[in-house]
Amino acid sequence: MDKVEYQKYLASHEWKQKRSRKWERSNKRCSICGSTKKIDIHHLNYKNLFDVTNNDLILLCRRCHYLAHDLMKQGKIKLKITDVPNKKYQTIKNKVRNYLGLDDERHERKNAKIRMRKALSIVKT
Ligand SMILES: [Zn+2]
Ligand SMILES: [Zn+2]
Repeated sequence: MDKVEYQKYLASHEWKQKRSRKWERSNKRCSICGSTKKIDIHHLNYKNLFDVTNNDLILLCRRCHYLAHDLMKQGKIKLKITDVPNKKYQTIKNKVRNYLGLDDERHERKNAKIRMRKALSIVKT
C-alpha cells in the first residue's frame, strides 16, 4: 500500500467507523498502562489495512505508543509476521511495561490477592 492509498484509507468512512468502535470497546484506555490521556490507535497488522478487524488494533497512549515503536526499531521487541495479533500485543505489552518499570499482570494479581487476604484478616479479627 503506497502513501496516497494509506492517506485515503485514513480519511475513509470505513476506517473512522472501525476506529470509533475500537475506542468504545476499549473504554478509551491505553492497552498497556491504562492511561486515558492522548490515546492513539496502533495497528498490530499492517499487511492488509482494508481488512483490519477489531483484533488488529490496540489503543495506546502517546508514551506507550512511541516507546513500543522505538523498542521495535531498536530490535528490542521482535514480532513475527506469523504471530496472531493477540500474541503481538502481549509481546509489546510485556516489553513496554517492563521498560516503564510497571509490574507484569501476574505480579499484580498476586499482590491483589495478598491485599485481599490482609483485608479479610482485618475483618475477621
Ligand atoms: Zn500507555
Ligand atoms: Zn503504532
